[in-house]
Amino acid sequence: MKIGCPTEIKPQEFRVGLTPNAAREAVEHGHDVIVQTGAGMGAGFTDTDYTDAGARMAETAKEIFATADMIVKVKEPQAGERAMLREGQLLFTYLHLAPDPEQTQDLLASGATCIAYETVTDDRGGLPLLAPMSEVAGRLAPQVGAWTLQKANGGRGVLMGGVPGVGPARVVVIGGGVVGTHAARIAAGMGADVTVLDRSLPRLRYLDDAFGGIFRTGYSSAGLLAEHLTLADMIIGAVLIPGAAAPKLVKRADFPTMKPGAVLVDVAIDQGGCFETSKATTHADPIYEVDGIMHYCVANMPGAVARTSTIALGNATMPFMLALADKGWKQACADDPHLLNGLNVHAGKLTYDAVGEAQGLEV
Ligand code: NAD
Repeated sequence: MKIGCPTEIKPQEFRVGLTPNAAREAVEHGHDVIVQTGAGMGAGFTDTDYTDAGARMAETAKEIFATADMIVKVKEPQAGERAMLREGQLLFTYLHLAPDPEQTQDLLASGATCIAYETVTDDRGGLPLLAPMSEVAGRLAPQVGAWTLQKANGGRGVLMGGVPGVGPARVVVIGGGVVGTHAARIAAGMGADVTVLDRSLPRLRYLDDAFGGIFRTGYSSAGLLAEHLTLADMIIGAVLIPGAAAPKLVKRADFPTMKPGAVLVDVAIDQGGCFETSKATTHADPIYEVDGIMHYCVANMPGAVARTSTIALGNATMPFMLALADKGWKQACADDPHLLNGLNVHAGKLTYDAVGEAQGLEV
């Protein structure tokens, strides 16, 4: 199969769909890999890394879209890319179609087969191609929160780990899923005093079993959260209610009870945010202040560490990419119901219920 990887063109996107290692594996499986010149630069991969792995380089995205049987990307195709998709071509990337009717219509019109990373599932009910980005965002959250806590950035001027004779920062993580667990581990590793709040008792039991001693857990009631708000130096918002906007768990009216210069890191901002005063920010201008409380609300946190994110995503997508290339999408999806769950569009038809429901379209 001819596998094509164009340069990402969405603003501020530095990741790339295929790592040189993934390209090498595909070549070893007998496939022809074509990568756009410079596609890996944002993630620190040179064209030579790809040619050493056995890939060919192509100057333009047009060349890649014209020749590849399968296009492997990171972000949803932009309008210009959608216009180049062909009938029978396979697209494997993040799509996030539900809130995007324009993209949905273009993909339907293209006749291509489109498999979305975000709806591929696993045996444990998880989303294996979303999890790596949650891991990255979770581990990054205490790092950006610690920077925001510094005085020059508007924070309380508190050091995460304290020093001998001075206590550590108090960090509260709301939501103990993938993001929250990774955030809590890193915050605890930095020496902070960490509590994770969740509403799922099975999840709290798991966290206590796995991490008891490193951080504490609490049931996320309004009362317990209010208690923690008065003590916290940093609050990391990591809740998710599948299919719904994030609940607003911290309100502006709570701010007078909090420490001036405390930091809110709203990782759930891509679902609307879990703090009332959250509004999406960018890596170029990531923080702002409301009533003395600092906010960090970057919606695409993994973009800050494009190299780590690219490799983490590549590790997760590679087995699926190889199955699609080796067997063709029909056989690969017949063999793996989790990959079949990724199928959103095929030959002009919508094949994913939630997108149909969101847009009132027939599936
Ligand atoms: P997850 O499903 O693994 O975890 C969510 C957790 O929130 C669950 O354990 C759930 O029980 C808990 N929860 C739900 N309601 C709660 C409440 N009221 N109080 C406390 N806990 C509650 O999800 P995840 O992968 O960890 O993702 C968390 C959020 O981070 C999502 O909104 C996701 O879209 C977002 N995210 C953002 C970025 C970014 O760059 N900003 C990157 C990755 C993920």
